[in-house]
Amino acid sequence: MTQVKKLWPILTGTHRYDKSLSTRGHGKGTLIDVPLLAYLIETSNGRILYDTGCDYNKIADEVKRKQFYESEGFAFGAPSMNKEDRLENHLAELGLKKEDVDLVFCSHLHFDAAGGLNEMKHAEVHVHQKELDSAKALEDEAYFAEDFNGPINWRTYDKEYEILPGVRAVETPGHSAGHASLFIELRKGKPILLAGDAADLIENIEKEIAPGLCWDNNEEIALESIRKLKRLSVETGSEIWPNHDMKHFKSKKRVSNYFS
Ligand SMILES: [Zn+2]
Repeated sequence: MTQVKKLWPILTGTHRYDKSLSTRGHGKGTLIDVPLLAYLIETSNGRILYDTGCDYNKIADEVKRKQFYESEGFAFGAPSMNKEDRLENHLAELGLKKEDVDLVFCSHLHFDAAGGLNEMKHAEVHVHQKELDSAKALEDEAYFAEDFNGPINWRTYDKEYEILPGVRAVETPGHSAGHASLFIELRKGKPILLAGDAADLIENIEKEIAPGLCWDNNEEIALESIRKLKRLSVETGSEIWPNHDMKHFKSKKRVSNYFS
């Protein structure tokens, strides 16, 4: 039986960028506003955080913002993130401290997923070995070495596994080398498949469009991961949650703000 008790989507910031960064080859010239999300999963055996959002310091500090986000060749530009958007403040709203997070599962190590890792030094941090290798080699411009070069309690894996009953890592490479989605069984209702950046928008899933940034410029791997998520969704009756779809995020935000 699943050990998952509750799931919270957490809005850690927003980002406005060219739509083609989410839908490869589609929507160039159109700006979209996207949520930058983390997810807290409370289980009977500890708390898991799926991704950590951006590093607030790199956005609030003018010098760092210029260095990291406003440099030439960085197509995304700076996200919007207020002090209140920091993970510790969202956790405080739930009566928790960051030390109450036991395990961080990284979909991948881009700036908007790994930016909060430096605040999670106490937790074990799960990431695919290929992702860690690719990030450390700075294989694309969305990796910021500062986010993951500090002392972090890494637990790397190289094949799919169950984190605990009801939470399973699903390999979905393509957007990045070792990207992973997360399959979550709730006690009631449909299981949730957190796509991570394997699918930014509902459109990526429905029309099978790759994310803008593809590892090694190989769109085919990313498309195969989208098809894998769709197959898994049919097999398990689960809902796929895209990672950067504002409309989808708002539709899922409930008054009580959690899913159980
Ligand atoms: Zn990414």
